[in-house]
Amino acid sequence: MDMAANPQVIRQHLIDPEICIRCNTCEATCPVGAITHDSRNYVVDADKCNFCMACVPPCPTGSIDNWRTMPKVQAYVLPADDLRAVAEGSGLQWVNSDADKVQAVQAAIAAEPQPVHVPRERPAPVVVDEGPLVLVETRRDLRAMTLPFEQQPLA
Ligand code: SF4
Ligand code: SF4
Repeated sequence: MDMAANPQVIRQHLIDPEICIRCNTCEATCPVGAITHDSRNYVVDADKCNFCMACVPPCPTGSIDNWRTMPKVQAYVLPADDLRAVAEGSGLQWVNSDADKVQAVQAAIAAEPQPVHVPRERPAPVVVDEGPLVLVETRRDLRAMTLPFEQQPLA
């Protein structure tokens, strides 16, 4: 960043994408619509933020820092003509992305149906059988069997 060319500084909230859980509380809280999000990050627009601090306390993860003092810089513009000349001087061909195709792909991605969240079903609770134990004999009829304690002592 070239602070000498553009010494103006701004104060800006930064939202840590590694901590943010995308709960949307901050965006819903901000009274001036300074917080927006895309599919990856929540960001604060420093040009809209009025420093009210309403977004910081409700954040459940502490993702929003209080303030960062940042140099205000202009968006970088790629010097395509210079780069094209460099490429052609080396026998290469400079190829730009086709803006129409990029836009068509982005629109197709945006139109993709969102995956349906199917909650996992809880398994049925285990019911413990508190009844008496049952002896199971599959081959012999125990009714005709004399158990040791049933035998008459020998005379
Ligand atoms: S400090 Fe206030 S205006 Fe700035 S982003 Fe947070 S809620 Fe919005
Ligand atoms: S409130 Fe905090 S955790 Fe929720 S979306 Fe905003 S920055 Fe992320």
